[in-house]
Amino acid sequence: MASPDLTLDILCVGAGFAGLFELYHLRSLGYSVKVFEAGGDIGGVWWHNCYPGARVDSIVPVYEFSDEKLWKDWSWTEKYPDWKELRRYFQHVDEKLDLRKDILFNRRVVSAKWNAGKDMWLITSQDGFVVSARFFLLCVGNNSKIYIPNFPGINKFRGSCHHTARWPQGGIDLCGKRVAVIGTGASGVQVVQDVGPRASQLTVFQRTPNIAFPMRQRTIDEETSRKMKQELYSTVYRRCRQTLGGHAYDLYPKYSYDATEEERILFYEDLWNKTGGLQLVAASYLDIRLNQQANDELYYFWRKKVLERVQSPRLQEILAPEAPPHPVGAKRPSLEVSYFDTFNLPHVELVDLTQDPIVEFTENGILTADGHEREFDVIVLATGFDAMSGGITQIDIEGMDGISIADKWAKSVQTYLGMMTANFPNMFFIYGPGAPTALSNGPTCIEVQVEWINACIKDMMDSGVKRIVPLHEAEEQWQQIISQSMSTGLYDAPTSVFLGRNIPGKVSEPLLFVGGIPKYTEICREKMYNGYEGFSRTSLQ
Ligand SMILES: Cc1cc2nc3c(=O)[nH]c(=O)nc-3n(C[C@H](O)[C@H](O)[C@H](O)COP(=O)(O)OP(=O)(O)OC[C@H]3O[C@@H](n4cnc5c(N)ncnc54)[C@H](O)[C@@H]3O)c2cc1C
Repeated sequence: MASPDLTLDILCVGAGFAGLFELYHLRSLGYSVKVFEAGGDIGGVWWHNCYPGARVDSIVPVYEFSDEKLWKDWSWTEKYPDWKELRRYFQHVDEKLDLRKDILFNRRVVSAKWNAGKDMWLITSQDGFVVSARFFLLCVGNNSKIYIPNFPGINKFRGSCHHTARWPQGGIDLCGKRVAVIGTGASGVQVVQDVGPRASQLTVFQRTPNIAFPMRQRTIDEETSRKMKQELYSTVYRRCRQTLGGHAYDLYPKYSYDATEEERILFYEDLWNKTGGLQLVAASYLDIRLNQQANDELYYFWRKKVLERVQSPRLQEILAPEAPPHPVGAKRPSLEVSYFDTFNLPHVELVDLTQDPIVEFTENGILTADGHEREFDVIVLATGFDAMSGGITQIDIEGMDGISIADKWAKSVQTYLGMMTANFPNMFFIYGPGAPTALSNGPTCIEVQVEWINACIKDMMDSGVKRIVPLHEAEEQWQQIISQSMSTGLYDAPTSVFLGRNIPGKVSEPLLFVGGIPKYTEICREKMYNGYEGFSRTSLQ
C-alpha cells in the first residue's frame, strides 16, 4: 500500500456548497481538513456549468448559505441569478471565510481504500498524490458525472461539440453559427432560449417534452435587497427547514377537489402569473403529486398556456402533446423565460427524436433516421447526468470487504439516511442518493446533512469512537422507506432521473427520499439521539 504524502483528520472531495461548508465548519472545530477539487476553482456545478443561459431555478435568497455573516453584505441582482453572479457569490464566500488556502484545485480523486488495520482511508488523486484520512467526505454533488449517449460517430464531427457541464471556460461565440442542441431538460431549455435569437440556425433535438414553467425573472435593486434582508432573511432560512422542498414556500394546505373547478383555475392562474417558478408544483394543492386526475388538470392548464405561445400546430403537439408525457413534477420542473417563443423564430427547428432518432454524427453534423443530414458548426450536448450516485461510483472506492462501491451499487444504490452505506466506514456523502437531494433546494438539504455529519464526527472524536458504519438491516429498512414513499406518489416518468432511468443499464429504483426536509431531518436526528441507531460504532481499544 502506498505511503501517504499527507495525513489528515478529514479529506473532502469537491468544492461546491457542500465541500465549502464542510471545510469551514470542520476547520473551526479544530480538525485538519483539506478539499480536493477536480475543477479549476470553487463553486461546484457553477464552475463547470458556464454554458450560455445557465442559471438557478431556486429563488434568492434560499440558494445561498444561511449564515448571516455571509448574506449580510452580499446583494443579488436577479431573482434567479446566472452562473456568473453565482461565481461572484462564491468568491465573496471565500473572501469571508478564507477557504482557498485549504483547497487543492485540478486534483481529481480517483481511488480510495479502507485500511481496516489503521481505521483510515487511503485516498489517491489522479496525479498520484496519496492522503491518509480518518474521515472521507464525498461532497461530489448529484450532477458531477456527465452523461453522453453513445451516439455512433460522435468523434467524427469536425465542428465544436461540448456537454453543457463541460463547456469551455472561455466560452464559445455562437453568434451567426449553425447550432444543434440535443436534449431539452433544464440545461437544454436554458441554452435554447439564450442562443436561439443569435444563432443563424438552431436545431433542437427533443426526446421528452419539457413541462417548463414561467420563471418570472426580475432584477433586484439595492433598495429591494436591503428590504429583503430586513424583512425576510431573519426567518427565511428557518422557514426553508420547515418546507417539503427546502424552499421558502410549501404546498397549499388544501386538496385539489376540496376546491371548486373555478377556484382551482383561479388558483393556478395566480400561481402562473404572480409567482411562476417551481411553485406551480411545490406550492400547489397537497395531492398534486398523489392524485392523477388533479395532476392531469394542472398539465392541461399548462398545455393551454403553451399552445397560446407556439404558432405551428405541428410544434404545439411536439412541445405540449395532447397526452401528458409523464405526471407534472415526476421530473424536476424547468423554468423558462422565452423557451416556447423561440420555436416561432424562422431559423429554429425542432426534431422529435421519438419519430426521427439520431442515426449517427457525421463529419459535418447529424444524420437522423429519416435520412436527413443537418450540418452544424456547434453541437451542444444537453444530455444530463448520471445523477445522485454517478459522482460517487466513478471513484474506485474499496470498503471493508474489498468490494467496490460501484459493484455494491450496481445491484441497488443502498444507503442509510442518504449519508452513509454499509461496509464503507467513516465515509459520508452529501446531496447524493437516499436523501431529499434533487427534490429539494440544494443549500437547505446540504446544511441539514452537514450539521448531522459534523455532530457525528465531533462526537466520535470527543468520545474515542474510531469507526462508524451502518448496519445492513438498517440500510435495507431505509431503502424500503424510500421505495414506499416514492411509490405512493406520481414519479413514474419513463426517463426519470429520480429513478435512474435516464442512464441505460442503471437499475430502475427510487434514488431519493421524497418525504421532505422536515421529516428527513427528524428521522436523522432521532437516529442520532437514540445512540446512533442503525449504526455499528467501534471504540478505541
Ligand atoms: C445547471 C445546474 C443548475 C442547478 N440549479 C439548481 C437550483 O436552482 N436549485 C437547486 O437546489 N439545485 C440546483 N442544481 C443542483 C446542484 O447540484 C446543487 O444546487 C448544488 O450545487 C450541490 O452542491 P454540492 O456541493 O453538493 O455539489 P456540486 O456543486 O456538484 O460540487 C461538487 C464538486 O465536486 C467535484 N468533484 C466531483 N468528483 C470529484 C472527484 N472525483 N475529485 C475531485 N473533485 C470532484 C466537482 O468538480 C464539483 O466541483 C443545479 C445543477 C446544475 C448542474
